[in-house]
Amino acid sequence: MSKNIMVIGEFDNDQISETTTELLSGATKLSAGGSVSIVLLGTSSDLIASQAFAAGAHKAYISSSGDYDAFLADKWVNAVNDAITKENPDLVLLEQSSIGRDLGPRLAFKLDTGVAMDCVSIEDDDGHFKATRPCFGGNARAVYSFEASPAIATIRAKSFEIMQGDTGTGDIVQIQDTSVSKVTITNREVFTIEGLSLTDAPIVLCGGRGLGGPEGFDMIQALAEAIGTDKAALGSSRAACDLGWFPVANQVGLTGKVVNPDLYIGIAVSGASQHMAGCSGSKTIVAINKDPDANMFKASRWGIVGDYKEVVPALIDAINAK
Ligand SMILES: Cc1cc2nc3c(=O)[nH]c(=O)nc-3n(C[C@H](O)[C@H](O)[C@H](O)COP(=O)(O)OP(=O)(O)OC[C@H]3O[C@@H](n4cnc5c(N)ncnc54)[C@H](O)[C@@H]3O)c2cc1C
Repeated sequence: MSKNIMVIGEFDNDQISETTTELLSGATKLSAGGSVSIVLLGTSSDLIASQAFAAGAHKAYISSSGDYDAFLADKWVNAVNDAITKENPDLVLLEQSSIGRDLGPRLAFKLDTGVAMDCVSIEDDDGHFKATRPCFGGNARAVYSFEASPAIATIRAKSFEIMQGDTGTGDIVQIQDTSVSKVTITNREVFTIEGLSLTDAPIVLCGGRGLGGPEGFDMIQALAEAIGTDKAALGSSRAACDLGWFPVANQVGLTGKVVNPDLYIGIAVSGASQHMAGCSGSKTIVAINKDPDANMFKASRWGIVGDYKEVVPALIDAINAK
């Protein structure tokens, strides 16, 4: 049965985000020939709309007002609600990002419906959507079904494969929202991370407290360069971030970023459940740790027991030799 699916889009520097493109592909598949729409808020939204059409959207609800450039949840929720009221979707998909984590529950409350957070897949089960998400710190998966409509779900990056959209063009509808946010942003600190974004990288190299100091990350950076900085990005455990060894923006885990790369290598990371909550969805996990009983090995497909100061240079040499 065909469905009407809406994606809440995110973009950065005039470029639609990779995860929003994935959501549009997932929405196209789930819609089974129905309609896919997107909500875009912020100055470049008209430019982004054409990227969204190329990725599969049929319709874009936009507001190019600069009032949306900074994410203000109480204002965004009104704008998205305007689009939902006009479109009446069966399912609303958001990224499992700082925006999606804040907006998803607010929307569900406003619309008196349910939200499933941090999902890794959504299926249409005989007319009802079912959402799967990790639970117990990533050690198990729970499946939820929705009774209320619209169903709302926040989706982890890399949960859907990107497919080529077939529309290319679509309709643009202006969002009507005159609400005024109660929030004032007084200061903003921007951390600039060079290279690939952690959530988009197919390979994540994550360092932990066992590195012994910030210089340990230089060795991991050298490994990333040997692999290729167009493929590998660096992450950190919270313990290493708390010590100021690595920017907190690249912390992996329950209170950091959730990553689902093809390959995750935990280097001198113990594998605490709060850390695994952020990386257990990785397709292949490799652990490098000098303690053979480290929890990280339990979640790993491959493990190297040893001092990272010997193992990582050996890996770099082996890659360079190829
Ligand atoms: C509410 C809450 C939320 C949290 N959120 C997060 C989160 O989002 N992300 C997160 O990461 N943590 C989080 N934590 C913290 C988490 O519980 C752990 O304390 C943390 O992940 C430990 O980091 P670590 O593995 O780097 O350090 P450690 O536990 O100190 O482990 C270091 C590891 O390095 C190994 N090692 C030491 N030297 C070497 C060497 N030379 N070569 C190879 N291996 C070596 C050791 O054997 C050890 O296994 C949270 C905790 C709480 C309570």
